[in-house]
Amino acid sequence: MTVDRYTYIKCWYGIPRADYEAMLVAHKGKCAACGEGETALSAKGDVRWLCVDHCHKTGRVRGLLCDRCNNILGRAKDSVDVLQDLIEYLEKNAVAASSPSVQDLTELKGARLCLAV
Ligand SMILES: [Zn+2]
Repeated sequence: MTVDRYTYIKCWYGIPRADYEAMLVAHKGKCAACGEGETALSAKGDVRWLCVDHCHKTGRVRGLLCDRCNNILGRAKDSVDVLQDLIEYLEKNAVAASSPSVQDLTELKGARLCLAV
């Protein structure tokens, strides 16, 4: 049995079709976080609908997110601290990107070996 998407959203999140469509219009059909359109595909190969993001503590619907952003929030368990830590990690390592890569170091090690012979 296939359940209509709007029926699923109404049953799971308690929001009627008109509210989902109003959020979709408010977000201009894009993810409320990254501003991009959905690109994830369903098992049938169709572009998926934007996910209904909600607070897991209160159940309050926050907005519509793409699959990627929804998964990131879910894996971070909605923790601002975890997400901040990840931002700091990325920023710290972005600076380190100007330092030699593992491949550079391997080549350098090879050069030293050639010089030693
Ligand atoms: Zn997104």
